[in-house]
Amino acid sequence: MAECIFCRIVEGKIPCARIYEDDEALAFLDIGPLAPGHILLIPKRHFERIWEVPSELLVTLVRKLPRLSRALLEATGAQGLNILQNNGPVSGQAVSHLHLHLIPRTAGDGLGYRWNAGRYGPGEIESVQKRILGAMGED
Ligand code: 5GP
Ligand code: ZN
Repeated sequence: MAECIFCRIVEGKIPCARIYEDDEALAFLDIGPLAPGHILLIPKRHFERIWEVPSELLVTLVRKLPRLSRALLEATGAQGLNILQNNGPVSGQAVSHLHLHLIPRTAGDGLGYRWNAGRYGPGEIESVQKRILGAMGED
C-alpha cells in the first residue's frame, strides 16, 4: 500500500470529499480547512515538488483552476481566494505529494500571511537578478 496519504486517497483507500476527478487530476476538500470549502487539487501521479512535475501535467492542473474557483466562490459566497502551493518542509509543506490549495477568502476572515517585505541594498537587486538568470538554463 502506498505510504503517501494523497496516493492512498487517489487509490480510494482513504475516503475524501471529492470535488473533481479525471484521469490525471483529483480535487477534494481539505480535512483541516483554513475556511469552509478549502480545496486541494493534486495530480494523481506522485510528485513531491513543483520543479519535479512535467510542465504538461502542471498545465493540466492549472486549467482546472478557473472552474474550481468559480464553483468555490459561488458555493461559499467568498469574495476572493488564495491559490497556495508549498514546496518543501521549510515552506510549510506537510504532505509531500504536490498539491494546490484553493482557499476561499471573505472580508474579516482573519486569515493572512506574514508578508515581511524587505528591501534590497544598493546594487543588490542586479546581483540577485544575475545569479537567477545564470541558473535559468534552457526552457
Ligand atoms: P501542506 O501543508 O502540505 O501544503 O498541506 C497539506 C494539507 O493536507 C493540509 O491542509 C491538511 O489539512 C491536508 N490533509 C492532510 N491529510 C489529509 C487527509 O487525509 N485528507 C484530506 N482531505 N486532507 C488532508
Ligand atoms: Zn503521493
